[in-house]
Amino acid sequence: MNSPEEIKRFVKERFPALGVNKSLQIARLLYETGRRECRDYRDVLKSCSSENKGFKELKKELLKKRFPRACSLGKKINPHLPALESPAGREADKSHWLEPENIYYEKGLSSSQILSRTANRFPEARTRKIDSLKDFMDNRSYDINTYNRRRKSMFLIKENYDFIKKCPCTSGCVCCGYSILNAGFGCPYECVYCYLQEYSNMPGITLAANITDFAEKLSKLKGKRIGSGEFCDSLVFDDITAHSEVIVEAARKHPGLIFEFKTKSVNTDRLLNMKPASNVVVGWSVNPQHVIDRSEFFTPALNARLEAAAEICRAGWDTAFHFDPIINYPGWEKDYRDAVELIYDTVPPERIRWISLGTLRFPGGLKRTIEVRFPKTDILNGELLCGFDKKVRYEEDLRADIYRKMSGWIGLKKADTFVYLCMENPRVWKKSGLKPRWRWE
Ligand code: SF4
Repeated sequence: MNSPEEIKRFVKERFPALGVNKSLQIARLLYETGRRECRDYRDVLKSCSSENKGFKELKKELLKKRFPRACSLGKKINPHLPALESPAGREADKSHWLEPENIYYEKGLSSSQILSRTANRFPEARTRKIDSLKDFMDNRSYDINTYNRRRKSMFLIKENYDFIKKCPCTSGCVCCGYSILNAGFGCPYECVYCYLQEYSNMPGITLAANITDFAEKLSKLKGKRIGSGEFCDSLVFDDITAHSEVIVEAARKHPGLIFEFKTKSVNTDRLLNMKPASNVVVGWSVNPQHVIDRSEFFTPALNARLEAAAEICRAGWDTAFHFDPIINYPGWEKDYRDAVELIYDTVPPERIRWISLGTLRFPGGLKRTIEVRFPKTDILNGELLCGFDKKVRYEEDLRADIYRKMSGWIGLKKADTFVYLCMENPRVWKKSGLKPRWRWE
C-alpha cells in the first residue's frame, strides 16, 4: 500500500519548487488516485501528460483521474484535500470486541439494577464508584487513541440534561422533524463511517441509569417521531440497560407519537417478551453483506439482522429499515438490489413502516480520522466531494441516481412502501422522483 509519508516525501523531492499547500494537494491526489485505481502513486504520476507543466495543469489532470464522473459533467467540483496523515499506531482495534476492564458508576447507583446486570455480564471488569462523569472527565485530554480504547470502560450515569435532542439535520436539507433520545453515548461496534469517532470526547461507553426520568419528558416533546440509536446502537446493551421496557411503556401512554429503536444488533429478547405497542417501531440499519464485511466490524450479518426483524414482526411489532449510509462502489447496484429483495423475502412487507435512504456523507474532519483508524478502507475511494452543506458527499446527480434506483427496487417489491431520504436537499428529492410526505404526520 502507498504510505502517506512516502508519498509526501516523494512529491517534495520531485517538485521542490511547490509551496507546502500545493505539495500536499498533489500528494493527496496521487494517494487517492493510486488507491482508487489500485496503482502505485509513481505510476499515476507517470501516466499524467502534464507532469512537467506546472501545478495548475497537473492538479487539473489529477482531479480528472480522481473524480472522472464528476469532472465529465463539466461542473466546478469542490474536492476535500486535507494533508495526508500516517496512522502511526492509531488504527481501530478490530480483534477484540467488548471486554471492559472498568465499570465506573456515579454515586447513588451502587444498588441499581443496571450496575448489577453490567457487573454480571462482565465479571472480569472492576467496578469503581465515581462522584460524577463530569468530575472524572475534568482535566483529561482525548484523542483518537482514547476513542480506540472506549470499549475498555463503561460508565453508568444519571443523565440530567440531554435526554432529548433535535436531530442535527443540516441546513438546506428537508427536515423530517425527528427527535433523538440520548440514553447512552458511545457504541461498541466499529463502523468505518461512524461520525462518533470524530464527535465523541467520552473516555468510554456511557449508559443512562435513570431512563425512567425520560418518560416524564415525553409529554413535552414537540415533534411527532423520536428514536434512539444516534449516539449508541439502540439495542446492543438492552439486556443490561432494560431501556426498552421503560421506553415502550412510556410510549404506550403517548399514542400520538412514534418511537423507533434503531439498531444493527439482534439483542431483541426483552422486546420479544413484551406486549407490542402500535406506536413503537423496531428499525434496522442495513447494508449489503459486502459493505458489512468491510465497514461494519463486530456487527451482526445482514441475514441475522433480517432474521431478528422477522422474529420481531412475528411477535407483533412493526419494523423499518435504513439503508444509511449507502456506499457507491463498482457492483453496488446488484448488492443493494439483492439486499432489498432479501428484506422483502424475509420480513412480512405489511409490517415495514418505512425505509429510509441516505448516501455516505460526513463532516470534512472525519476523512482523516477514517484514514488513520481504517487505513485499508475502500469507502473513501468513491467520488466524494464537498456538498451543499459542507459535508463530504457524492455529487448530486449520482445521489439522485442511487435514490431513484433504490426506491424503484423497493417499489417493485411493494409499491406503497413509505420511502424517504435522510439529510437531503429539495433538489435531490425532486431529481430522485420522491416527495417528502411524512407518513407519521
Ligand atoms: S452502529 Fe451506529 S453508532 Fe455504532 S459504530 Fe456503527 S454507525 Fe456508529
